[in-house]
Amino acid sequence: MSDSDSSPKLDFIREIIADDLASGKHATTITRFPPEPNGYLHIGHAKSICLNFGISQENAATGAKCHLRFDDTNPEKEETEYVESIKSDVKWLGFDWGDDLYFASDYFQFFHDCAVHLIQKGLAYVDDDSAEEMRAKRGNLTTPGTRSACADRSVEENLDLFARMKAGEFREGECVLRARIDMASSNMNLRDPVLYRIMHAEHHNTGKAWCIYPMYDFAHPLEDALEHITHSLCTLEFENHRPLYDWFIENCPVPSKPRQIEFARLNLTYTVMSKRKLLQLVQEGHVSGWDDPRLPTISGLRRRGYPAPAIRDFCKRIGITKFNGTTDVALLEFEVRDFLNREAPRRMAVLDPVRVRIANWSDEPLEHASVANHPQNPEMGERLVPISAEVFIEREDFMEDPPKKFFRLGPDRCVRLRGGHIIRCTSFEKDAAGNVSLIHAELLPGTVGQDAPEGVVCKAAIHWVDAATCADAEVRLYDRLFTAENPDDAEGGFVSVLNPESLKTITAKVEPALARAAIEEICQFERVGYFVTDLKDHSPGSRPVFNRTVALKDSWSKQAK
Ligand code: ATP
Ligand code: MG
Repeated sequence: MSDSDSSPKLDFIREIIADDLASGKHATTITRFPPEPNGYLHIGHAKSICLNFGISQENAATGAKCHLRFDDTNPEKEETEYVESIKSDVKWLGFDWGDDLYFASDYFQFFHDCAVHLIQKGLAYVDDDSAEEMRAKRGNLTTPGTRSACADRSVEENLDLFARMKAGEFREGECVLRARIDMASSNMNLRDPVLYRIMHAEHHNTGKAWCIYPMYDFAHPLEDALEHITHSLCTLEFENHRPLYDWFIENCPVPSKPRQIEFARLNLTYTVMSKRKLLQLVQEGHVSGWDDPRLPTISGLRRRGYPAPAIRDFCKRIGITKFNGTTDVALLEFEVRDFLNREAPRRMAVLDPVRVRIANWSDEPLEHASVANHPQNPEMGERLVPISAEVFIEREDFMEDPPKKFFRLGPDRCVRLRGGHIIRCTSFEKDAAGNVSLIHAELLPGTVGQDAPEGVVCKAAIHWVDAATCADAEVRLYDRLFTAENPDDAEGGFVSVLNPESLKTITAKVEPALARAAIEEICQFERVGYFVTDLKDHSPGSRPVFNRTVALKDSWSKQAK
């Protein structure tokens, strides 16, 4: 390792890996991302994906690989829809498993053979105790457990009973296979954990071939070892399970010895992350689906317009540690803004339009204004936006009785139409409800691309669209899904703190070019925020549908103050 300032400090996992490669313990790394296909991936999974696939990219020169493995050992909860969505999300995030796509259910025979091996070594037994009896005999942190009477069964009897479990001779819950480890261990996970249970269920991959299914703690180390995983990275909840992981690796006939290392999971403010809770939001109709742009799912973030590189930058920024905490969602939004500020072309759209009529337009008519696509990046060029005697501006850019510091439009005040003339408001009209309905203005000749003439105060340029040629667009203003910083802690449960204002749909006036926007086209609506055409509901040629990715400024931190 070089100690120059330019080499970024490695996190503790990458340090371990660097040491293992340097010492020759491993010639290369094989990591894995092992989702259970029981829901869509969320931003927490992105952290794990960036870590596991990131390590393989960084060590590509040594032939490093990262497997995508579906941990589909539970027949009841998994669906092929989830398998497809997970593959597509990992790809979209920018990672590639190459040929290394695996299903844990393909290893059922191997798990079974390992179980038989443990029985033969006297390290596993079939237990007839009910779940309740097992719980009662397990003891607690201060009291050792007592072993089931079944633990004294002979190897032959256990082999016979296990074969009969497999053959379907027993009902669900009638018996289980347990490891014989230590009923007095201070680590509860070692008190003769269950290895196999009976489930008369159909599995999406193996159909009815099996009616016994392995527990996660038993299957996972065997999956890793079978795939020659060098470093098995998981979240901190599994720290207590590591002795068990190592016990299985030690006592089963495995072809390699993977090492489990735990890191802190990602938690984010103003959202919930567990698949079970996300599923509940979907099933109860609080959101439109797993890819609702308000959800922290990868597919939701994508529809919201969060670019994959910004998500990867976010994962890099939060880093890998051993400390559980909650990350402020504002940090994720910051990365998105930061990326889009650099990358997104500028467009004009008026979300809350009021009409301006320019009386003396014929004095100096313009056909179009020339507006920069990106003020800081001249390479992105300029575009011509049609303009005529009537334009729409944002209602909030006009004040009937403005204070001194208001530099936009008001009676007798001047403002520049971005890329066009300076205009002066001469009068205005109101509708029956008392809202301003029409602003009368005049243009100041000779001001296109020129400073304000002597004696004219004009300190701001505002965005606008041409009333004659603009298009209507459906704009979905998304906000945070929850009003509470930690929805999981809410007294009434997380559903009780859903934000009723998390989606407002409006019709906006947009510059004509946006009527032809492609699917997933992203841009900044100048002075408003970043918007993306909806992946599902937008179709080029019909009325455009835009989702607000993020506002230009963080309005929540203002509210908090
Ligand atoms: P959830 O608790 O949200 O249902 P899970 O842990 O059950 O998630 P899996 O499909 O088992 O989901 O997870 C696949 C991988 O992603 C695991 O290695 C897991 O450790 C990791 N992972 C899941 N959630 C997070 C998170 N919030 N932060 C970091 N890694 C995570
Ligand atoms: Mg899980």
